[in-house]
Amino acid sequence: MITLVPRIAVAAQVAPHAVAVIVVLILFGALVYGAAYSVSVRWHPWRPCRRCGESGKHRGSLFSRSFRPCSRCGGTGRELRRFARLP
Ligand SMILES: [Zn+2]
Repeated sequence: MITLVPRIAVAAQVAPHAVAVIVVLILFGALVYGAAYSVSVRWHPWRPCRRCGESGKHRGSLFSRSFRPCSRCGGTGRELRRFARLP
């Protein structure tokens, strides 16, 4: 118990500066991630459709060989990524 008191006191003195450093690092990481994403979404605006898994088909549950175009992607098997513009 005696050894814990100095550690807590040291932690209380360091904590505000450490919190500020962590916040700045998180903000810097978010900035780098956002810049990389904005470049990536211009180069590669499409992603596989999340509903059909890029097949473009919606299969019947009883007769599984039958299918119709996926209603999410319209049968293309792809969808635009978030914040992407049509090429
Ligand atoms: Zn689809």
